[in-house]
Amino acid sequence: MKNYQMLIDGEWVNSSNNETFPTVNPFNQKMWATIPQASDEDVQLAVKAAKRAFENVWSKMNGLKRASLMFKLADLIDKNATYLSKLETTDNGKVIRETKTQMHFAARNYRFFAGYADKLNGEVIPLDNDELLDYTLREPLGVAVLITSWNSPVSLLANKLAPALASGNTVVIKPSEHTSATTLEIGKLVQEAGFPDGVVNIVTGDGKVGDTLTKIKEVNKISFTGGVKTGVIISRNASENLIPVTMELGGKSPNIIFEDADLEAAIIGAVAGIYAAGGQTCIAGSRLLVHQSIYEEAIEKITDKAKGIILGNPLDKATEMGPVANEQQFKHILSMIKKGKEEKAELVCGGERVINEQLRSGFFISPTVFANVHNDMSIAREEIFGPVLSVIPFADEEEALTIANDSEYGLAAGIWSKDVKRIHRFAKKLQSGVVWANTYRVTAAQAPFGGMKRSGHGRERGYHALLDYTQVKNVMVNLSNDIRDPFSIQV
Ligand code: NAD
Repeated sequence: MKNYQMLIDGEWVNSSNNETFPTVNPFNQKMWATIPQASDEDVQLAVKAAKRAFENVWSKMNGLKRASLMFKLADLIDKNATYLSKLETTDNGKVIRETKTQMHFAARNYRFFAGYADKLNGEVIPLDNDELLDYTLREPLGVAVLITSWNSPVSLLANKLAPALASGNTVVIKPSEHTSATTLEIGKLVQEAGFPDGVVNIVTGDGKVGDTLTKIKEVNKISFTGGVKTGVIISRNASENLIPVTMELGGKSPNIIFEDADLEAAIIGAVAGIYAAGGQTCIAGSRLLVHQSIYEEAIEKITDKAKGIILGNPLDKATEMGPVANEQQFKHILSMIKKGKEEKAELVCGGERVINEQLRSGFFISPTVFANVHNDMSIAREEIFGPVLSVIPFADEEEALTIANDSEYGLAAGIWSKDVKRIHRFAKKLQSGVVWANTYRVTAAQAPFGGMKRSGHGRERGYHALLDYTQVKNVMVNLSNDIRDPFSIQV
């Protein structure tokens, strides 16, 4: 049994009221660590430490030094990737082959943004009046609060922490109460890399901790990954202090197979879209739109694949799908499957808890396919965040577009077609922050990621993420000796 502590101002501490909560392995339901439940006082201390570190150290340190610390952190994450991935898999049930990749991808993200730390230049702007010199400075915001969900703690954190640090902000992190361990381990690596005290602080606990954190006046930025309901509450808190927020929320992403697609490849893409990570990913391609001429064939093929998926211990390299990460989520998925049946979608396979000898202690749900789904049904509208695919037929491109965009979400979308003109035409019309063509669930440090509509706003990864953690200052310098008219604005 591990007893974790929180990181505040360079010190590892218990909660000031000594409260803790258990963290459970979703594969066997065994408690394996305790995590502190931060008090309001702890949260205040963490923000104060971040503010001090921002004013006294981090905002004064040059980009090259910040970058070198970030490169060290990236090296340490790579070095500890096996350990970290085993821990993350133990904590959230995600298969080891994915968590291991995610650790190296997190390291890649720190390196990508470290490369920007000494290149955050402003610009010289030519004005109408050439006796005025105009230039901009790109400056950090101050204390950034980073709140993450349970499905990919280290990877989601890298999306936020790397651009925040590179651009000179200090942070207070709050990971999900379901999976806090690996974030705290990253805290240890931050220290080993040699970051000054207070630059990175980590407080743990439930939503109440997040709520306190997002109401504090000294906070200058909030970046949140999680559900829409929480996103709305946090946005409200942020508006009281008029601070900017980045919102990475849910999705109900359409993965669209046209009649001219390479069907074999498209079906693999559909599997990657909904059964990878057991569908517990914001970009899950949970609505599979299929042209009516290939609909039956596609249903047959995806069902075959779904039935063949290897469920098992997520620490085992052969396992393709692990358990659902926690009981709350497990109950939600089953309730959505029930709704699908009640609304008369056709359950083709799966749809139940797996209770064989090896898996009965975990929250396993068999890969599920619903056919003849109408886009008005709950299973096509609400985020399930589980291995449940809704297959929806369409007659032509226009109908496919209407169905795809008829969602309150707009995070990701996939297009499968051999017609290059159709791909570009369609990509332009999709209301989605991320569009893949002839692939799905592929990511890159350089490519901006984020949602439209109720999937959120702001971008992570890529150069665009830096814009969310910096503000622009404009400086105008008079080069002339003319005496101005003080009662008229000068242009
Ligand atoms: P959640 O909203 O319940 O919790 C997310 C985080 O917010 C947790 O750390 C939680 O403790 C904290 N929190 C809860 N209430 C709070 C409050 N009132 N104030 C401040 N913080 C609070 O979400 P979840 O169940 O952890 O994650 C699942 C959701 O996350 C899904 O909707 C999924 O789509 C979304 N998600 C989005 C992305 C993305 O990049 N767009 C990535 C992963 C997950």
